[in-house]
Amino acid sequence: MTIDADIVIIGAGPAGLCFARSLADAGLQIMVLERQAKAALATPAFDGREIALTHHSAKLMQQLGLWERIDPQEISPLQDARVFNGSSLFSLNIGHHETHQSELGYLISNHLIRKAAYEVVKASPTITLKTEAKVKSIQTNADGVQVTLSEDEIIQARLLIGADSRFSETRRAMGIAADMHDFGKTMMVCVMEHSVPHEHTAWEWFDYGQTLALLPMNGMHSSVVVTLPPKEIDNLMKMHEDDFNREVSARFKHRLGTMRLVSTRHAYPLVTAYAKRLIGERFALVGDAAVGMHPVTAHGFNFGLKGIATLSSEIKAALASGKDFTSNSLLLRYEKVHRRHTRPLFVATHAIAKLYASDSPPARLLRTGALHLGSRITPFKRAVAGFLADAH
Ligand SMILES: Cc1cc2nc3c(=O)[nH]c(=O)nc-3n(C[C@H](O)[C@H](O)[C@H](O)COP(=O)(O)OP(=O)(O)OC[C@H]3O[C@@H](n4cnc5c(N)ncnc54)[C@H](O)[C@@H]3O)c2cc1C
Repeated sequence: MTIDADIVIIGAGPAGLCFARSLADAGLQIMVLERQAKAALATPAFDGREIALTHHSAKLMQQLGLWERIDPQEISPLQDARVFNGSSLFSLNIGHHETHQSELGYLISNHLIRKAAYEVVKASPTITLKTEAKVKSIQTNADGVQVTLSEDEIIQARLLIGADSRFSETRRAMGIAADMHDFGKTMMVCVMEHSVPHEHTAWEWFDYGQTLALLPMNGMHSSVVVTLPPKEIDNLMKMHEDDFNREVSARFKHRLGTMRLVSTRHAYPLVTAYAKRLIGERFALVGDAAVGMHPVTAHGFNFGLKGIATLSSEIKAALASGKDFTSNSLLLRYEKVHRRHTRPLFVATHAIAKLYASDSPPARLLRTGALHLGSRITPFKRAVAGFLADAH
């Protein structure tokens, strides 16, 4: 059987779904292919990720209709951020007062974002979602796109979008290389209740031998992120809850008082990816498949949304002026703009992550010096706050 569509998207994660929704009213037929079952998209399970969103991302999510589908009680304001180094109590403080906003951004659980994205897509008659789809082969050329599924079903389209995660098989099938970096560490994420209030402040704590992060949720809860070698994370994942609570409270040096696990625990390998090309013939990558960020700067999905906005506004402009929305020049403009938006932070994040993962004596000196210097330079702090908030 052959099905015709204008755009075929592989991957119904938050990026693939948001991209489909961004073009739902453009007069195009859109097909989204996802390998997971429908239930996993309709009622996604909690996956441990709390997503820090900029003001710009909040605005885009409002435009896409996701924001209104999320219970306001589930949106937690992120007012300030503190960066600690080693065992020192000194911190580099990035405050919302450095911006013109009452907060730097917001925190929302990833599964709630995914659920809202699924709902807006389901409500769009121009989007067809095919779950449990197994892509067998892909072909793009000047005439069009052909995606063959395992039951020999063929989807013919004019544009192909790869939105199938940082480990994108579509990217690989299209012959596009990626700069992938495996930090050899694993991140464990979970929600914990604690006795000392977080004051809606996020922590990034580059301790010696471990990296800890804290993302403030409403009430006395925070999302806790512990980054360690995989073996140590395995132990934490398996540990009895009482021992786990004691262990994590101690790792946080009791700065949050007594901590208690209130969710399931989830582990993610710390691997980043940056595709060498973001486009090909009748093809573009979006979301993590294009740029898979290190989570330390909390920008993966923010960049995903930014790229989606760039590409969909190019496509809408082409349609409005009767031009080819799959042209190479259009795709090149998307690639150029998205690289400009993402590459500097991707590179800077790597440098910071490498420096603060090193415990050698010169690195320790540099780590302390950089933090103290940063905290004394107001324009630097203002720039970081402005970047985190991304209010335009
Ligand atoms: C611990 C952690 C914390 C994070 N915190 C933040 C944060 O604070 N702020 C922020 O902006 N970002 C954050 N991120 C990043 C954010 O979660 C990602 O950027 C975002 O989920 C990427 O969405 P995506 O749709 O591109 O990819 P994914 O969420 O990986 O979705 C890809 C989809 O494609 C499907 N798929 C894969 N292969 C195929 C195939 N061959 N065929 C069909 N379907 C396929 C998958 O099943 C999945 O549904 C964090 C990430 C982690 C791990």
